[in-house]
Amino acid sequence: MKTNIQNAINQQINQEQSAAYIYLGMSAYFESENLTGFASWCRAQYEEEIAHSMRLFQYLLDRDGQVILDTIKAPRMHFDSPLHVFQVALKQEQDNTKSIDKMYELASKENDHATISHLQWFVDEQVEEEKNVSECLALIERAGDDANAILYLNDKFGERTAADVE
Ligand code: MG
Repeated sequence: MKTNIQNAINQQINQEQSAAYIYLGMSAYFESENLTGFASWCRAQYEEEIAHSMRLFQYLLDRDGQVILDTIKAPRMHFDSPLHVFQVALKQEQDNTKSIDKMYELASKENDHATISHLQWFVDEQVEEEKNVSECLALIERAGDDANAILYLNDKFGERTAADVE
């Protein structure tokens, strides 16, 4: 496995772990606001991101690559509103898509077919991630300042668990 590909995968492991940490911070924020449904949604998202990083971790090991774990930045712990959280979440997913696309392009350039094949799952997964977060954001935008609507969404979001989306 080429060093530049190995580096990119290690960087993506960090990106997925960082994304997990950001969702965990969001979950804590919602808990502090007593919005436990949104909190549990973010926690499910946290678990998903950890699973993503572990897929890459295992892939590096399977290819006899070297895993190099780096520092994870402290996540944001305070937000203005549920709307603000989901705006940040969407931006994060969009950035993550760019990062995966870049890695995919590198693997293509290097003719690393195994990595291309492994990354295909991530390319598809990002379509789902962006779609899910966009839909959540749209509903929260629609709820606006209506407290009853926000509480309704809080209940609905709470029905989702990590097992629902892989
Ligand atoms: Mg991810």
